[in-house]
Amino acid sequence: MDNKNEVIFECRKCEHNLFAESIDLKLIDRISKMNCPNCGEDAERNWILVGLGDSETQENEYNWR
Ligand SMILES: [Zn+2]
Repeated sequence: MDNKNEVIFECRKCEHNLFAESIDLKLIDRISKMNCPNCGEDAERNWILVGLGDSETQENEYNWR
């Protein structure tokens, strides 16, 4: 299993990270409508795409299925 190519999004307000397993328009659409699970910030224009990562080695920040 190779999970080194997950897309990481970051909350503008609290810098909470979300990991998405693949780049998929439906998934990105869902994330764009998701309020931050950490600080509750409204989803609209909140998520910043910060890059690629690995939720296994960055497990403490993992908050996405
Ligand atoms: Zn947040």
